[in-house]
Amino acid sequence: MTSTYKIAVLPGDGIGVEIVPEAVKALKAVAEKFGHKFEFTEALVGGAAYDAVGHPLPPETLAICKSSGAVLLGAIGGPQYDELPVHLRPEIGALLPLRKELALFSNLRPCMLFPGLLEASTIKEEVIRGVDIMVIRELTGGLYFGDKYREKTPDGGQKATDILTYSTYEIERIVRFAFEVARKRRKKLCSVDKANVLESSRLWRETVSGLEKEYSDVETIHMYVDNCSMQLIRDPRQFDVIVTENMFGDILTDEASMLTGSIGMLPSASIGGEVGLYEPSHGSAPDIAGQNKANPLATILSAAMLLRYSFSMDKEAEVIEQAVTRVLEEGYRTGDLLSCSTEEKEIKLLGTREMGDVIVERIMLL
Ligand code: NAD
Repeated sequence: MTSTYKIAVLPGDGIGVEIVPEAVKALKAVAEKFGHKFEFTEALVGGAAYDAVGHPLPPETLAICKSSGAVLLGAIGGPQYDELPVHLRPEIGALLPLRKELALFSNLRPCMLFPGLLEASTIKEEVIRGVDIMVIRELTGGLYFGDKYREKTPDGGQKATDILTYSTYEIERIVRFAFEVARKRRKKLCSVDKANVLESSRLWRETVSGLEKEYSDVETIHMYVDNCSMQLIRDPRQFDVIVTENMFGDILTDEASMLTGSIGMLPSASIGGEVGLYEPSHGSAPDIAGQNKANPLATILSAAMLLRYSFSMDKEAEVIEQAVTRVLEEGYRTGDLLSCSTEEKEIKLLGTREMGDVIVERIMLL
């Protein structure tokens, strides 16, 4: 009897409602090709959930996620929700608690340059050719989860505080995971911190150093975050696996996305608990929402990660990745992947839905 794999589908806001259906189409094509049974259950999250039921993470949504094998999320947020009380804002009220509830302490963001996209990056070809980096970001600790408060100051102004805390346990768990990932790749680990200034970073560095002996087959280096941000642009090929804390990872991965041509190409997997969460690294892009302009490939590649990490379907994941490679090589592009030099080639500009259709065609052909 064929098993049924349950997937919670949370499109969210903005372009989320456009890109997620394209990833679902790709997953359905994989199911048809390989004879799998995927059961999709859609649920509200973010601003859409707030508008419908008054909270960005309704209990029903959380229950659907917890009873699924994996969660596929689009993006959440938008300017219309920026003035809500903090606990009702989509990211703080939904994304952070979802990560915490599902115990997703580890965020994987592969940053790989598809050969067809060499010219789409704003960085010189000779610098980015062959880039293949896995950024592993700690996801449930640090500044984003620390206490936050405001106080009045005697001069009539205010003082705002965000607490940044990390424990040995939290650091060790993510760093061990990163060492294991590095072992399966090119065996190089770069741990990023700000140990020259921050106490939490000094504990981070000591903890990584303490584990180095156990993973002596992996070449480990330590780098300050400001230097890492510069090195990513100067010589990105020096990196294999990068491991870092929550906020540094948030910022560095957006920077790394530019190596791949567009933030619309960067998928992510958040794992650690029983149910993994898969989402593109970008936000809800309100500036292009509802125009069929968004690049769905980061979400489609996130669906490939879902198959690999939650359902151990490596072959199926590869078929999606190959379909993306093929489509880009054939010159298909969404608007964000166009660059000045692209005019020379035969480029076919597609909308979100049409890009999803071409991917499905290639999945079936491969
Ligand atoms: P963003 O990632 O939404 O957009 C940044 C820029 O990249 C925009 O110009 C946008 O058009 C472009 N872009 C992003 N994804 C694209 C895609 N798939 N195809 C083509 N172009 C794409 O970041 P932002 O503008 O800072 O934030 C917009 C909203 O998204 C905010 O409300 C923010 O809070 C939210 N946000 C949500 C998440 C999430 O859901 N995980 C992450 C980041 C930001």
